[in-house]
Amino acid sequence: MKSINPYNGEILQEFNEHSEQETQQIIEDSHQAFLQWRGITIKDRSKLMSQVAEVLRNNKEKYARIISLEMGKVIKESRAEVEKCAWVCDYYAENAEGFLKDEPIKLPEGKKAKVIYNPLGVILAVMPWNFPFWQVFRFAAPNLLAGNTGLLKHASNVPKCAMAIEDIFIKAGFPKGVFQTLMIGSGQVKNIIENPLVKAVTLTGSEKAGQSIAAEAGKVIKKTVLELGGSDPFIVLKDANLEKAAKTAAKARMINFGQSCIAAKRFIIEEEVYDEFIEKFKSTIESYKQGEQLDESADYACMARPDLAEELYHQVDDSLKLGAEVLLHGMVPEKGKSFFKPMILTNLSPEMPAYREEFFGPVALVFKVKNVEEAIQIANDSPFGLAASVWTNDKDKADQLSREIETGAVFINKMVASNPYLPFGGIKTSGYGRELGEIGIKEFVNIKTVYLG
Ligand code: NAP
Repeated sequence: MKSINPYNGEILQEFNEHSEQETQQIIEDSHQAFLQWRGITIKDRSKLMSQVAEVLRNNKEKYARIISLEMGKVIKESRAEVEKCAWVCDYYAENAEGFLKDEPIKLPEGKKAKVIYNPLGVILAVMPWNFPFWQVFRFAAPNLLAGNTGLLKHASNVPKCAMAIEDIFIKAGFPKGVFQTLMIGSGQVKNIIENPLVKAVTLTGSEKAGQSIAAEAGKVIKKTVLELGGSDPFIVLKDANLEKAAKTAAKARMINFGQSCIAAKRFIIEEEVYDEFIEKFKSTIESYKQGEQLDESADYACMARPDLAEELYHQVDDSLKLGAEVLLHGMVPEKGKSFFKPMILTNLSPEMPAYREEFFGPVALVFKVKNVEEAIQIANDSPFGLAASVWTNDKDKADQLSREIETGAVFINKMVASNPYLPFGGIKTSGYGRELGEIGIKEFVNIKTVYLG
């Protein structure tokens, strides 16, 4: 497995893949670790998780460089990602005990019952490259604190991040085997799911991977959480603060160079403010500076792999052939290179990829609408349902939109962002289940009823 700098194609490091036999041994080690780990109090587990936050903060620069060089995001974004990982570790270290305490239930016949939360065992996490630390820590912090053990199958283009994360848990003093990385390709995932010692699977990734993993897990009746793609609407009504909306819209599309599930992708603007919004939105995007990943002043560097740049342009090209118009010109990516320039497309119709598919990169899709009803209709006319951002100063309209938009989250006058305190996840083909918050720590536990007769 190769770690390749997508900016210049340089091979940073090579890793041997785990054989089938090694993989089965790692699963066995994870199970043995679980048998000990579940007996440790949440207080003691929480102390270790606080140390993980310490390790992250103390080595922020080192981890940020690994992230940037391996997947192409600029260094300031990588630093923020490492800090956010420390935040989620602290959040669960402080709250896990309270979230998982026994819950008494009073029964009408005067008897008592309670709900207790038991860990399940070994949990497999299949993770993507786009936030190569954050996606893993938002799984690991709640699930390890709940008493489970974790196996990470990271995306094949971020093996350095995968190894660094395993090392962080060791440095923080976690017992051997509680969190391990598997150096394997996606072809081996089926065998892992089938292993009886593996109790559940969580995936953050594409719809295609979701279909495959859910089908395999379904065959052996194992629970899955799927965090899949999105094509989030960003709705601007005529009474919104346009200046703020346009600046935030640019940020929401450009964050991580557009390679984020909750990036705003479809911009739905009421016609009265359309021209002004577009002007501000476009000029903000044009002001973003391109540079090498470690350049402190760069706002973006390159996409994470050459094939991703090519695939994105393919979607753009197919949409242009069907009549889409260009409001901001980009570039045709050079074969074998990861460079791309931001684009804005409009005049979109349902038969185009730009209308139905996820654009996982810096291409904004813009719609002009007559009123709130049309905005809701277009927002919901998507196979995805991850999140939405709504811009209006009218409280009633904000309330109407937050109820009628078919997504797992709606942010009013704010860009969508994940936050340890807030449940995160989608509906429709964006997946199911929730991470983060109190709900997130209860996805992979046995919610056990105890009746006291
Ligand atoms: P991807 O191709 O699905 O890869 C994600 C992970 O799944 C990788 O570890 C990959 O392994 C593995 N994988 C792929 N196909 C598989 C299969 N058939 N069986 C088992 N494992 C499989 O997705 P990506 O291109 O890396 O990530 C981008 C996608 O993730 C986008 O759609 C994005 O919206 C979504 N995403 C969602 C969230 C969310 O929270 N909802 C967050 C971030 C990203 P290999 O690398 O070895 O192929």
